[in-house]
Amino acid sequence: MRSRQRMYSAVMRFFLKCLRIGQRRRFWLTKHVGQLWLYGRLCLRSLVYNSFANGDTALDALFEPIYWLVDHVTRWFGVQLKSDVAAVSICRKCISPKPARTHHCSICNRCVLKMDHHCPWLNNCVGHFNHRYFFSFMLFMTMGCIYSSVSGWDLFWEAYAAIEKMKLLDKGRLHVTANQTYSQTPPPTFSFRQRAFHKSIVYAWVLCSSVALALGALMLWHSVLITRGETSIERHINRKERKRLRLKGKVFRNPYNYGPLGNWKVFLGVETQRHWVTRVLLPSTHSPYGSGLTWDTPPCIVQQKTPLLTI
Ligand SMILES: [Zn+2]
Ligand SMILES: [Zn+2]
Repeated sequence: MRSRQRMYSAVMRFFLKCLRIGQRRRFWLTKHVGQLWLYGRLCLRSLVYNSFANGDTALDALFEPIYWLVDHVTRWFGVQLKSDVAAVSICRKCISPKPARTHHCSICNRCVLKMDHHCPWLNNCVGHFNHRYFFSFMLFMTMGCIYSSVSGWDLFWEAYAAIEKMKLLDKGRLHVTANQTYSQTPPPTFSFRQRAFHKSIVYAWVLCSSVALALGALMLWHSVLITRGETSIERHINRKERKRLRLKGKVFRNPYNYGPLGNWKVFLGVETQRHWVTRVLLPSTHSPYGSGLTWDTPPCIVQQKTPLLTI
């Protein structure tokens, strides 16, 4: 009887042991699978995460085959649309004719005539109709900042010296207070208004000089581009084309380059000698030459070339 009881108890113990082990294994497996799942999800999210992803990006990706089709059909068969616009290609985003020198701005979401670049400071594109205003803004802003920096040099230096003096006096006061020499706190050497005044002058001068440097560099760069008769985008395109043709033993010629003086005349809209005063030195609201859709040689350039041809 006892031996049977012992056997039963042994079997029961063994059964309970098996159950416990099973439970432990199941728990370990669940934990392991859970960790793997979390790790895999983190890896996948890290790989595909894009902070700029939104509905427009998804739509663009879906439309990619259509863009590809438009691009290739235009390349194989030429522009087949019946339109008054003299197009050289089709904008794959707007699906509309694209004239020469026109580019699509993805920020403005439209095609811009003679696009130079999208300016984040102006929150607008710089193109055919506002390129001159953009350049004038840079030129006059740089000149104004240089004038302020040069004329305010003495003022800046005085304010800077005053701030240094303030620092020294403050140090001295702190030292005196720490040693407990005076029973009373000494009166302030500079009032809050004086401190703010000196600091504002230093801040304004540093800001003016920084703007003069940064905007001056940008203005000089645009001057080089205008002298060459190309826009910021065309510079990259022309450089590639120049390289490609050089490898073929040919020379690239920019069709919109009328020579340095000619380019400036076209850019500023100077048709007669008087225009150097009325349109360049004085503020003027005249429109640029041409509609931006076609690019015929401007009359001022034709006049300039005629005497040379007759000789
Ligand atoms: Zn477009
Ligand atoms: Zn734009």
